[in-house]
Amino acid sequence: MKSFDVVVLGGGIIGCAIAEELARRQQRVAVVERGAIGGEASSAAAGILSAQMDLPRPDVMFDLCQAARRLYPAWVKHLERRSGIDVGLAIEGILYLALTSQDERRMASRMRWQRAKAVPVERWSEAEVRRREPSVDGRLRCGFFFPAEAQVDNVRLMEALQRTCQRDGVTLLEETSVQRLRIQRRALQGVETDRGLLRAPVAINCLGSWASLVEPPPIKLPVVPARGQMLAFQGPRGLFRRAVMSEQAYVVQRRDGRLIVGSTVEFVGFRKHLTLEGIRAILGGLRRMTSALDRCAFVDAWAGLRPCSTDTRPIIGQTAIGGLYLAAGHFRHGILLAPITAVLLSDVILHGRSPLDLSPFSPGRSTLKST
Ligand SMILES: Cc1cc2nc3c(=O)[nH]c(=O)nc-3n(C[C@H](O)[C@H](O)[C@H](O)COP(=O)(O)OP(=O)(O)OC[C@H]3O[C@@H](n4cnc5c(N)ncnc54)[C@H](O)[C@@H]3O)c2cc1C
Repeated sequence: MKSFDVVVLGGGIIGCAIAEELARRQQRVAVVERGAIGGEASSAAAGILSAQMDLPRPDVMFDLCQAARRLYPAWVKHLERRSGIDVGLAIEGILYLALTSQDERRMASRMRWQRAKAVPVERWSEAEVRRREPSVDGRLRCGFFFPAEAQVDNVRLMEALQRTCQRDGVTLLEETSVQRLRIQRRALQGVETDRGLLRAPVAINCLGSWASLVEPPPIKLPVVPARGQMLAFQGPRGLFRRAVMSEQAYVVQRRDGRLIVGSTVEFVGFRKHLTLEGIRAILGGLRRMTSALDRCAFVDAWAGLRPCSTDTRPIIGQTAIGGLYLAAGHFRHGILLAPITAVLLSDVILHGRSPLDLSPFSPGRSTLKST
């Protein structure tokens, strides 16, 4: 039997970011991962760091994403320095293509309130879009450019995070399944795994789409999987200068020329397979934006499960069980929100408070419904 200060359940980006932050703050931390570190949603993602483009209103989620974006460059620098791995952070903006008048109206309204908050957004005419992003050759009304948005290579980011955790002394237990929590008199005693008991006064459920399956559930956790299918092509480098998206599809190009094309959002339970319907929808959306990939080599396809809560906001904070915390339900923003989640939750665990009000994200909030 081993003992730790904190046991983190789940070795995705959320669990590993929190483990790394706590280890940096002198905690003895173990991460329990039933497969390989980062092997689920965190590697399946596109790595788009969108803190404004896809946020429909000026609410607490917008504020959280903005705070995450401010943290990102320093977090990446730290991981790159500790791990020696370049994670391909590129702050080159996102170009949204308005293909219909409805898209245009929606984005124009978003641009108004975001500019009022001094967050930069530019409106580009059709000609300007074609001049600045020549591979866009579909019919469109106009473009909206979000220059402060970024992308990162999330697979390399997970490798860097894993290596940094190891260097910081985090115990990474791969191929180890959480079976149940050991709780006595409403306080956590430890975590039972298929390789034995890990004693700890604190555990954090970071099990992504599987967060509600751990026994006994602290609350009926309203997190469900939302499948996303993805395709990858090999293109000539520099085909796209920035992430390009529309309502139906997006494409991001990595430095080595790989083009990541996504994605679907499907509520089909834990079925993590590709479908012809999904692939057709992605390719149809892509083709409305560009024909530049028509002759590129198709190199890969995969699907992942985004953890989605019933109000689509992440669930971050303490449960009614002493020592048991939650960090799950990051849905479409988990890569962006990893470092801010790690900092805020570590503050709550170690100091009982965080600099940003986490009540809109608390496990007990009223907007969460039982599934
Ligand atoms: C197709 C797709 C595209 C996306 N694109 C973006 C994007 O561009 N930008 C962005 O910010 N976000 C994106 N996301 C969302 C982002 O990937 C997720 O929000 C984020 O990865 C969630 O991280 P997590 O650590 O909570 O979950 P996960 O990465 O799923 O990690 C949970 C871990 O728990 C482990 N686990 C489960 N049960 C057990 C058990 N019993 N015992 C031990 N371990 C267990 C799993 O094996 C898994 O590794 C995308 C997601 C998908 C699927």
